[in-house]
Amino acid sequence: MTSDGGSATRPIERRTVSRKTAGDGKLEITNVAARRLESLGDRFPLVVSGKSGVASLSNMPCTCRGGDKPHVHYFVESDLLRSLAAGTEVDLLLDEDGKRLLVAQA
Ligand SMILES: [Zn+2]
Repeated sequence: MTSDGGSATRPIERRTVSRKTAGDGKLEITNVAARRLESLGDRFPLVVSGKSGVASLSNMPCTCRGGDKPHVHYFVESDLLRSLAAGTEVDLLLDEDGKRLLVAQA
């Protein structure tokens, strides 16, 4: 985690890439992870498998658990995420020095 010259990276969470990600560029994250990423701002640098780009946070009100259990799904959104294959496990790491999010295959 800190082998890249001492810059501090903090694990946010591990996710399995969904089938939708290749189509819409959205990787779902937990609301806890979303809150931690909010410190980066609305748009922030993203690195996916070594490629740099820009990502944003998005959310979507949802009733997939029934109309009596409304809740919100949270996503990181970036065209770079479309390159991730469905079923791949990825680690989301917060680079606190560079103020960016790293996405790497787990
Ligand atoms: Zn839902």
